[in-house]
Amino acid sequence: MSKNLEFELKNQIPELYKSAIKISEQTAEELHCNIYLIGGIVRDLILNNTIKDIDIAVQADAVMFAKRLEKKYGCKILKIQENLRTASVEFKSGCVIDFASTREELYKAPGMLPVAHNFGCDLKSDVQRRDFTINTLAISLNGAEKYNLIDFYNGYDDIKNKKIRILHNNSFIDDPSRIVRALKFMVRLNFSIEENTIKLLNEYLSNPCRNIPIERIKNEFLQYFSIKKDNTFDIALDFGVFKLLSDNPPLTVNIKVLDNLKLFNLFDDDEINEILLLCLLLNSDYNSLSLTSQEKKILIEVKELLNNAEHSFSDDFKIYKLFNKKLNKSLIIYYLITKDENLIKYLNKLKNITVEINGNDLIELGYKPSGYFTVVFDEILKEKIKGNITTKQEEINFAKFIKEKRNI
Ligand code: ATP
Repeated sequence: MSKNLEFELKNQIPELYKSAIKISEQTAEELHCNIYLIGGIVRDLILNNTIKDIDIAVQADAVMFAKRLEKKYGCKILKIQENLRTASVEFKSGCVIDFASTREELYKAPGMLPVAHNFGCDLKSDVQRRDFTINTLAISLNGAEKYNLIDFYNGYDDIKNKKIRILHNNSFIDDPSRIVRALKFMVRLNFSIEENTIKLLNEYLSNPCRNIPIERIKNEFLQYFSIKKDNTFDIALDFGVFKLLSDNPPLTVNIKVLDNLKLFNLFDDDEINEILLLCLLLNSDYNSLSLTSQEKKILIEVKELLNNAEHSFSDDFKIYKLFNKKLNKSLIIYYLITKDENLIKYLNKLKNITVEINGNDLIELGYKPSGYFTVVFDEILKEKIKGNITTKQEEINFAKFIKEKRNI
């Protein structure tokens, strides 16, 4: 007999969502179509985890369904994705629910985006396109099966046994981003990856396809690295998932040392995922990875820092020059890899030292505009770092002194 989850729904669904679900149920009755809570919400209900967002599968056209909610119940359609027939709807209570038409997906070539078809198909056909058994569960919201759990792939047992299991042996070949998703659920839910799934995951990683769009993989890594646990990077390394993006293993990083940088306001917490993704890509052939120019710049700067660091330790001026004008994210990645105390010294003592005078001041002193200006500014900077010069007037005096001494 199917399990009935009315009790769990009553007790675990946030109040905000309850009226929205009721209205959706009513609309389904009016439109004579079946709707289901699906995916993450059902998994989280069974796990007694906090419900963050709600997806509803509509066995009809979800866009038409959303328009009815708008017209009859004063909801607001926030977004429609025409090609997938999905709609994001805000209810009067303020909560947002994503409605998706049931659909099938066809992978015409491994790793490429699937082609969606057969919208409004039966639920069994819809769940076949999903990643893991734990995400295939649905709860019927109307009809004779109301609030019953619908479980085509034994997802309930897998949740109870804390197992992540793919639905078919071609799953990772169809969509390698699922490998990162497997890790994400493993770490986030504290589950383990089932034996055959691990075998197929390793098989894929031993010969990953390089010729595929990496957007989805990158996005999944960003989500994975958003998990606030210290070991996400080490796990990615241990499982070899970096191979999805790079032939070479990344350098090891120590996330715990991020705490030492908190004081300096170099990053927001929600940037850590991007920082870790870039750490993963440091040894990759990133020219082939369609990175943004900013991302490439960070990787180039980190390499420069790693290559030049040991030559710069001798004095504070060299330390200043090494770190000055580098992007914050480059400094952070460098520190995660090296834990170089010179960076802390730079941030604490050197970063805010600047030369106040400019080219015009030098011209007023009789200098002719030339590349020599940089030499003068550096000479002044050296003295400021040593503490021999502090005021603007002292900078001017020193520039005068250089001019006279060198007879410029
Ligand atoms: P959470 O929101 O808690 O991260 P979720 O399961 O809702 O978990 P989403 O990434 O929002 O995860 O995806 C919604 C649903 O879409 C999933 O439950 C899964 O069934 C399906 N899905 C997402 N990405 C894929 C994929 N690459 N391959 C197959 N199915 C996927």
